[in-house]
Amino acid sequence: MKGKQYNPYENMLSVLTSAAQQLGLDPADYASLCYPERELKVSVPIRMDDGSIQVFEGFRVQHSSARGPCKGGIRYHQDVNMDEVKALAAWMTFKCAVVNIPYGGAKGGVQVDPHKLSREELIRLTRRYTTRIMPIIGPDKDIPAPDVNTNGEVMAWIMDTYSMFNGHCVPGVVTGKPVEIGGSVGRVEATGRGVTIITAECMKANNMNPASTTIAIQGFGNVGGTAAEIFHGNGQKVIAVSDYTGGLYCSDGLPIDEILTFTRSGKLMKDFEKEGIRHITNDELLTCDCDILIPCALENQITEDNADRIQAKIIVEAANGPTSVEADEILQKKNVIVCPDILSNAGGVVVSYFEWVQNIQSLTWDLEEVNAMLNKIMLKAFDEVYTVSEERSVPLRMAAYIVAIKRITTACKLRGGPISLA
Ligand code: GLU
Repeated sequence: MKGKQYNPYENMLSVLTSAAQQLGLDPADYASLCYPERELKVSVPIRMDDGSIQVFEGFRVQHSSARGPCKGGIRYHQDVNMDEVKALAAWMTFKCAVVNIPYGGAKGGVQVDPHKLSREELIRLTRRYTTRIMPIIGPDKDIPAPDVNTNGEVMAWIMDTYSMFNGHCVPGVVTGKPVEIGGSVGRVEATGRGVTIITAECMKANNMNPASTTIAIQGFGNVGGTAAEIFHGNGQKVIAVSDYTGGLYCSDGLPIDEILTFTRSGKLMKDFEKEGIRHITNDELLTCDCDILIPCALENQITEDNADRIQAKIIVEAANGPTSVEADEILQKKNVIVCPDILSNAGGVVVSYFEWVQNIQSLTWDLEEVNAMLNKIMLKAFDEVYTVSEERSVPLRMAAYIVAIKRITTACKLRGGPISLA
């Protein structure tokens, strides 16, 4: 991780405080949002394939349930820690409020490099972690979903473990499940699709012609890969992409289909070779000559170390928390438009919401319905955020937080306020 003593939770608090001040809120009105409602830290002991026992550290944080059950993904990563999970949980609260779906925010994680575990070890890790967080999750309480390094398969194991202990099938305990066991069509692509919807709106708002706009994408997993595929399918020019091993660049546009086939077969970008395509570093990708930059990897990628060198006119944050507070200030001075994570990447949780609704009603929607509803919700949210940004002359991030904080503090007030039980 780059940047000086980056702490994602402090980053979140700093943005929250500025937005609350913009709104003219009294600290007492948003004090409860500065602290998660519940933080759970668990040990996850598992038997490794060689017979030894290893104990991993796991977390589940519920930031707010003011507007509905807590909602948010589970990530498996070697750098996962409590402050990161706390920030990610808070971002989920704001994200669900921006797109106005009836959820609070949560996040979970296990500090592990899943690439170093066998499939059997990963199953045991997931099942044990599920039993550890079981007292606080459930379809009415807190609904996990995929995040970095987790997927539908992991969700299936969580659902199975939870269902076993409950004695009946409980599909609504997680979203992002495989379609065959209650997942929603369109969920896998939803985050990437949402990113492309928001990017298109940003281009429209800034009178940019999609056909001549160049796009650079950092991260080529589920989100970055899907977004690249949709842009490419629409005839747009994706000129740079990367994974954690490095990036590829071609000013005429990259052959996204070929690169996707390559990486989806488990290969790494550093090994992709084709005439006319140049290998670049991650830093070169972030600072390359492009119109739109879309970070789709981890937090703290755009920092005071590189913000000044960024050439993109628009940044669409598909990752959670990719821009530090310091970098945000630099970008603002450079008139770079930053479309914030809590709006740009909300497509995933929106279709998670559709999945949960389908599970509760024992119904299934078709892809057309899912995508039409996703489109409608994302466009409405963009419009609301954009309007606040214009009215108050504030950047889109500030506007998105203003929309979110208004909704959350109103919910708290209507419920009698945080001290109503005292
Ligand atoms: N992990 C995704 C996010 O950060 C999706 C969360 C969900 O679907 O609950 O938004």
